Amino acid sequence: MHETGLSEAIVAAAVRRAAGRRVTGLRVRIGGHPVDPDVVTQGIQLAAAGTVAADTAVDLVLEPMTVACHDCGRSGPVDDHLVMVACPRCGGVDIDVTGDDNVVLESITVEDVEVGAI
Ligand SMILES: [Zn+2]
Repeated sequence: MHETGLSEAIVAAAVRRAAGRRVTGLRVRIGGHPVDPDVVTQGIQLAAAGTVAADTAVDLVLEPMTVACHDCGRSGPVDDHLVMVACPRCGGVDIDVTGDDNVVLESITVEDVEVGAI
């Protein structure tokens, strides 16, 4: 995932939604590939500098994809990129990855009032 472009897109959407009001909170749902929440949060706060969202709090909701192994039957969330390459239990490569790979700006808080995004 390209965290920088993603962060800028999230901030741009929130700023547009806020229509000039001060953004005090963002809730972002991230599905798919494992991400480092700290990196994403910092990226958003960096992208928000100098905008109406400059002092926003960032609330991330992570929804990782799931990997199912056909060899041993293990099924679990993708919390590491290695899991997408081979099964962590048996090392099998006959695996299925399921789940949505998307990022959604779920809601924003404007001047301490939560509003739906878009
Ligand atoms: Zn396995």
